[in-house]
Amino acid sequence: MEDRACVGCGTSEQDRTVTACPVCKKPFCFACAWQVHGKNFCSKGCGSFFFFGEGEDETGADADPEG
Ligand SMILES: [Zn+2]
Ligand SMILES: [Zn+2]
Repeated sequence: MEDRACVGCGTSEQDRTVTACPVCKKPFCFACAWQVHGKNFCSKGCGSFFFFGEGEDETGADADPEG
């Protein structure tokens, strides 16, 4: 079992609503959400990916081997 803590600020669901990013499935809270066209994502990269698909390959390489 893993805690669903926001990847941005580390908060849990106790105080804020933490939801999973529709793109990468990472948990994030609404305080850290990146809003694109009315939808919330964990980051700008995921928002862009959702609407524009893969494209810009600038930065955003935060893929950890574990997890
Ligand atoms: Zn957060
Ligand atoms: Zn994401």
